[in-house]
Amino acid sequence: MRSPASVRSTGAVALAALGSGYHGRVVVAAGTAKQEAAWALIEERYTGYGLVLPGDPSFICQAERCDALCCRAYSVAVNDEEVERLAAATTFPAARFLECEDGEPINLPLERPFVLGREDDHCVFLSQDRSCQQYAARPDTCQLYPHQILFVNPSSGRVMQPSPAEQQQAVHALLAGDPVAGSVPLLLRHLECPGFTGPPTNPADWAALLRVTYALQWGDEATPGG
Ligand code: SF4
Repeated sequence: MRSPASVRSTGAVALAALGSGYHGRVVVAAGTAKQEAAWALIEERYTGYGLVLPGDPSFICQAERCDALCCRAYSVAVNDEEVERLAAATTFPAARFLECEDGEPINLPLERPFVLGREDDHCVFLSQDRSCQQYAARPDTCQLYPHQILFVNPSSGRVMQPSPAEQQQAVHALLAGDPVAGSVPLLLRHLECPGFTGPPTNPADWAALLRVTYALQWGDEATPGG
């Protein structure tokens, strides 16, 4: 997904705000081998994704090279908080930008019960120049892209959904350089995104990216010690 020309990076903005808290606290190298071993178990099933480790190219939005595939191919589910954020940013009633039935937003019994509207086979907020009209207020799912975290059982190679406490424990351990008991968190990137052209990610920025991605995806913080 593209940012407008004036905002070139999603991850980098977040890292600038969060990276300073990690000075001297990040010992991620010890977990690299474990992540690589877990990734090797699922790599063949996740051909559209790649493992992101410290030292890999960092993400910088390449708006001019991005086809906004995600904004065209997928419908985006949103929760109440995201609807309020978009309503405040647009000053539109929610029915103007959500999928509706009989004039009312469709409300499904899901954690994210609403769906962003679509027109001409793309998200209602996608501009003709393929930038997002509501980049600053865009849903968490859009902020998350092109990263995601999977938890993989290092013995069976199964992708797991551990309890929130187990997830946090695993992420904490990885960030602190401690042995990871149970499922291994893997930070993945979508290979179709052309934005991985920046300088190598240093360990502190990688740790901040893992933390931001975890918080966006699972709605919680995962910093060691809080
Ligand atoms: S809200 Fe913006 S980033 Fe998200 S799908 Fe729509 S156009 Fe794309």
